[in-house]
Amino acid sequence: MPNSNKTLFQQNYKKLPDSFYSRIRPEAMQQANLLHFNQNLCNELGIKLSEKQLFEMTSGQTFPNEFEPLAQKYTGHQFGYYNPDLGDGRGVLLGQIKDKDNQYWDLHLKGCGRTPYSRRGDGRAVLRSAIREYLIGEALDALGIPTTRCLSICGSPESVQREQSEPRATYIRIAKTHIRFGHFEWLAQQGDIEQQKQLAEYVIETVYPELSCIKDEKQRYATLLKTIMQNTASMIAGWQSVGFCHGVMNTDNMSVAGETFDFGPYAFLDDCKIHYICNHSDTEGRYAYSQQPNIGLWNCQVLGQAFINLVSSADIEHAIDHYIETFNQEYLLKMGRKFGLVDPVEEDKHFIADTLILMDESQLDFHYFFTLLTHFDTEQHHLFTDYLLDSKAWQNWQKRYRERISEQSKTQRQQCLKENVPLLTLRNYIAQEVIESTTQGNVKPLENWMQWLRQPYNPAEVFLEQSHRHYLQPPHKHNKGLALSCSS
Ligand code: AMP
Ligand code: MG
Ligand code: MG
Repeated sequence: MPNSNKTLFQQNYKKLPDSFYSRIRPEAMQQANLLHFNQNLCNELGIKLSEKQLFEMTSGQTFPNEFEPLAQKYTGHQFGYYNPDLGDGRGVLLGQIKDKDNQYWDLHLKGCGRTPYSRRGDGRAVLRSAIREYLIGEALDALGIPTTRCLSICGSPESVQREQSEPRATYIRIAKTHIRFGHFEWLAQQGDIEQQKQLAEYVIETVYPELSCIKDEKQRYATLLKTIMQNTASMIAGWQSVGFCHGVMNTDNMSVAGETFDFGPYAFLDDCKIHYICNHSDTEGRYAYSQQPNIGLWNCQVLGQAFINLVSSADIEHAIDHYIETFNQEYLLKMGRKFGLVDPVEEDKHFIADTLILMDESQLDFHYFFTLLTHFDTEQHHLFTDYLLDSKAWQNWQKRYRERISEQSKTQRQQCLKENVPLLTLRNYIAQEVIESTTQGNVKPLENWMQWLRQPYNPAEVFLEQSHRHYLQPPHKHNKGLALSCSS
């Protein structure tokens, strides 16, 4: 493969001890075809990969010589229970690619066959989950929420067996790192302090190089732990503010970079159901929308325990406190701004919580409410009030809101709403439409949505057209709140 720049590709992970991974030869997918490659992402990163190169990598045929595909070993807590028997079961870390700012990104190929960690799985991926991961990376990134993203996706006439037979796919995702909370849990379980330090140093070198200047080892690791918790809190505050439900917040699905990671049955809320559960295997509601901040905290506590040999208990407590403070601050800021409050204050958290409860009771759409709020005290005011129930509660709410916003100028508020209220949301039924068209051989909707999702605050002109206007509105009853299974 032509590669004028020697260090464009590399495999950093193999610097770590052999027990951390298994070398893999990915299986090439038969009769593969490239369904899409993310030119936007390539442009943003300034990476020059030809369509042919990407196709060959994504379909598992050939890789740059510097890449050494490997499956990572890790463990983790799934639905609250420790599972020692985890690892990349159907994905391989190909290596890293350097962007225009000399930053390295992990390239991870998914669905290309079994690994030593596949257990009873087939190592493959279904087109459905591949498309869902493909779309959500673009959607969350455009909303300013840290996330992994996908570079390319291949389809094939082959099918895989899940609850039913489904078309197969392979895809490449990029991430700052593929180190999960579960990597640290695995090493803590092994009790090998030297290896824990090696992993911590690897994370510092590859994700948080600014921490490498901290000379004191213990302090360096304490800052690492605190930074991971801070980024996790900030990410989850972002999720809450856009009504995003991850669905499977197991600790093996939590990235130490604080990027939204390992997508399964995720969903954006439709109706504002505070206790919404998007994963229909989650019978207890462990990962319900309302539980996400607490589960994030629980996961951070698990990570903290896994650092017990590297830092003091006080360091862990301090990092945990920092998670809570960061979450509270960022949630208040992000949610407050959706109400047009430029500088939300502590007391606004009650207003925000009361509003969400009232929205839930009134069965209002989580997103459309804010879309219409942009008309509050304009000539189009009625568009907002018509949507509310004609109740005492909402009249009081309006009075309260009016009082609160009287402290700032109208232009300020409107600018704030414009910048903070997404008008376009990747609802599950939209992802479903894209999956159906792609399955039928029409990739145009996939191409379109990959563009459209880039502009949530200022939707493309096509949404002014009658045929597309409904995408900016609450879905029909039968398209609402689709809960999905974990299978992927
Ligand atoms: P997930 O619920 O997607 O985070 O997956 C949990 C674990 O199961 C991970 O270690 C995956 O690699 C593995 N896994 C999931 N699906 C498959 C599959 N089809 N084949 C092999 N391993 C899988
Ligand atoms: Mg996973
Ligand atoms: Mg997964």
